[in-house]
Amino acid sequence: MKHREHSYRNGVLARRMEIRPGVGSPTATAFLQCSRCPHEGSLKLSVRMPPEQIDKKFTQAGWALDPHICPGCRSKANERKAMSAKPSPDAMRAQAQMFSLLQNHFDPNKGVFSQNWDDTRIAADTGLSVAVVVEYRETCFGKLKEPDEVQALRSDIAALEKLHQESQASFLAEIATLKQQLGAISAKWAA
Ligand SMILES: [Zn+2]
Repeated sequence: MKHREHSYRNGVLARRMEIRPGVGSPTATAFLQCSRCPHEGSLKLSVRMPPEQIDKKFTQAGWALDPHICPGCRSKANERKAMSAKPSPDAMRAQAQMFSLLQNHFDPNKGVFSQNWDDTRIAADTGLSVAVVVEYRETCFGKLKEPDEVQALRSDIAALEKLHQESQASFLAEIATLKQQLGAISAKWAA
């Protein structure tokens, strides 16, 4: 703000100044009225300080000027702003869509999706990441639980895989033994 006059000395623009004759030299106090609360800030300064410099001192003390907002009101306003920080309309639509898809296709009691549905499909349909869908589902709806038949099949498969590995190993050992015997016999005939 460009001051045409000494706004503090003249008591304009919600600024004012008190000058008291001191022992050695007069002392001055500048005041600034917050536009949002009854708080009036004050600064002790030299009588000759120009208004621009006083403004700067208030700014350095955390004030916003013209309109004046005290440091307390500024931090409250910042908190409110942070709390009401809204996602974009697109993000909100995607979330609403995700919510309704989860509601329609996920059974929180059984912890299962309806047929052909999973987190990946919901992510693809809404444009959200799979991680976001999983986190949201686990928080608001529940974790995935495998049905008993799926768990039974998994353990059958694991058992067969183990058996397969073991048999393969024993077959290979058997073959190796036979090859060794063959090698020994061939060597005898060649000799
Ligand atoms: Zn205030």
